[in-house]
Amino acid sequence: MNIAEEAFKELYPGKTENREFRISYSSKFKPLNANVKYTQNYIHFFLSRDWQEFSDDLKKGLIQHLLVKVFRDYKYEKTMELDLYEKFVSNLGRYAKIDKTDPELEESFNRVNTEYFDGEMEKPNLVWGSSAFRKLGHYEYATNTVLVSSVFKGENELLDYIMYHELLHKKHGHRNTGKRTIHHTKAFKEEEALYKVKDVEKKLKTFLRKKRFRNLLGF
Ligand SMILES: [Zn+2]
Repeated sequence: MNIAEEAFKELYPGKTENREFRISYSSKFKPLNANVKYTQNYIHFFLSRDWQEFSDDLKKGLIQHLLVKVFRDYKYEKTMELDLYEKFVSNLGRYAKIDKTDPELEESFNRVNTEYFDGEMEKPNLVWGSSAFRKLGHYEYATNTVLVSSVFKGENELLDYIMYHELLHKKHGHRNTGKRTIHHTKAFKEEEALYKVKDVEKKLKTFLRKKRFRNLLGF
């Protein structure tokens, strides 16, 4: 019995599964990535190579996290391994290695860090994303990276607001209820409301509307 099968039995005791459980490690994945492929005959977990370094308990937690997605069966009692995995993921940002930083984003980070976090926030990786209007920013736990839409280049006031939001994700982590992952927790929202530029949401909406309009006209 491999750890995938063990993970299944611990998560869903009493449930029968005739498919074969398989695990492979791949060097093609980004750090700490994983996915699962399944057919009528097997359930195959693919983990990035760096997962090999971690304990079986943590790997089982990851596999259980994926199993819930495969089966869409939320009637389980949270296992120690799943709990371990969730804590690990939500803390990753604090340990991941820093290696990528854009100077304009770094200035924004420094302003926000001084103003709102007493300069105590550790600098994550800071990178520009594409010029997206929908996804304005993102914090990726696995690589400890804040990504900001390129539409905010040169827009310090709005950039700082996006930066603040993403840094709050780094600070607060996320919470799992079993059914879903909560990224904007109550504590998150309370702290977000402390942002000092009170009409910033309005400014953001106006900016995005104008920018979109300009883009449509091809300026
Ligand atoms: Zn968010």
